[in-house]
Amino acid sequence: MSKNQHLPSWYRRIDWPVTLFLILNPLLTIIVLPFYFYEHGFSLSFFLLGALMAAATNLAITAGYHRLFAHRSFEAHPLIRFLFLWIGASAFQGSALKWSSDHRRHHWKVDTEEDPYSIKKGFWYAHMGWMFLRESVDLPIKAADLEKDRLVAHQHRHYVAWAIASGFFAPALIGWMLGSFWGGFWILGALRIVLTQQSTFFVNSLCHTLGQQTYSDKISARDSLLVAFLTHGEGYHNFHHTFQSDYRNGIRWYQWDPTKWTIWTLSILGLTKKLKTISSHEILKARLHMEELRLKRKGICHERIDQLRNRVLSAQASFKRLHDDYEQMKKNLETASQQKVQQLRIDLEVAKLEFQNSLQQWKTMYQLSLNGL
Ligand SMILES: [Zn+2]
Ligand SMILES: [Zn+2]
Repeated sequence: MSKNQHLPSWYRRIDWPVTLFLILNPLLTIIVLPFYFYEHGFSLSFFLLGALMAAATNLAITAGYHRLFAHRSFEAHPLIRFLFLWIGASAFQGSALKWSSDHRRHHWKVDTEEDPYSIKKGFWYAHMGWMFLRESVDLPIKAADLEKDRLVAHQHRHYVAWAIASGFFAPALIGWMLGSFWGGFWILGALRIVLTQQSTFFVNSLCHTLGQQTYSDKISARDSLLVAFLTHGEGYHNFHHTFQSDYRNGIRWYQWDPTKWTIWTLSILGLTKKLKTISSHEILKARLHMEELRLKRKGICHERIDQLRNRVLSAQASFKRLHDDYEQMKKNLETASQQKVQQLRIDLEVAKLEFQNSLQQWKTMYQLSLNGL
C-alpha cells in the first residue's frame, strides 16, 4: 500500500510541485514588485530587457519546443537547438521531451478524453487546470526520436537544474551585472515567466475557442489574428492542426507569425534548414472543401459548387505550372528564344487572371450564399 493512501483522494490527484509553482510564482511577483519599485524606482531599461527576454523565451517555446522538437517542421544547427533548450527551460513549462510528447498526444487525440489539455473539459482546464492534476501531467512519454537526442535527454533528466539556472539564476546574474540582483530575479526572472507562461497557455485555451475554422470544423482549433498577437503567431491554430508539419502557422508572409519569421531568418543565416511547407494547392483544396461543406449544409446546388471548385483548383494548378516554367526559363534566358519568353509571359498573365477571377467568383458565391441572398 502506498504511504499516501491515507490522504484524501482529491489531495492525491494534485501535482503539488507544479501547482504550487503556478500559484506562488505569479502571487509573489504581484506582491513583491510594488515593494521593489517603491525601494528602487521604476527602471525602464530593466523592463525593455525583460520584454526582449520574454520574446526570446516565447520564441524558444514556439519555434523550439513546438515547431522544431514536437513537429520536426525544420532542422536546426546544434547551437540553435541548445539555445532553444536553454531558453525554453527558463519558461518553466517542463522539459522539451515531456512538452513535445504531451503536444503530439494533443494533436493525435485532439478533443477526445485522451487529449491532455482538451478544450472539451472547459476553457480553464485547457488553459491551466490540466497541469494541476497528476493524471494529466504524469502521462507516459512517447517520443522515441527525441529520447535518442543526447542534449534533449540531458535537459529532461536534469530539468529542474536547467530551469532554475536559466529561469532565475541567469536573469539574477544579468540583473546583478546591471546593478540590481533582485531586479534581475523578479523582473527578468519571475515576471518574465508569468507573462510567457500565459502566452503559451493561450494556445491550448484561446486557440481552441476564438476565431474561424478555416480548414476543418471537425476539430475545435481556430484561426485568429488577435490570438496570433498574444501567442507569437500560434493563433492560426486551425491551419496548424490541419497541416501540423508546416513550419508556418500564418501562411501569408504578412500574417502575424514572428515564429515563422524567426525560423525563416535563421535559415537565411544558415542556422536552420529543410523548412517544411504544405503546397498552396493542398491548402486551397482544404479551404474550399470546408467552404463547400458549409454551402452543402445550407442546401446550395451541389453541381454548381463542384464546377466552380474544380475551376478554381485547375486554374491554380495551371498558374503554378506556368510560373515554374517561367522561373526555369529565366535561368536559361540566353538560350531561350525571345518569342518563347514573350509567349510564356502572356500565358502566365492569362493563367493568373483566370485563377484570380475564378477565386473571386467562388468567394462571392460563398459570401452571398451564406448570407442567404
Ligand atoms: Zn502543434
Ligand atoms: Zn491545439
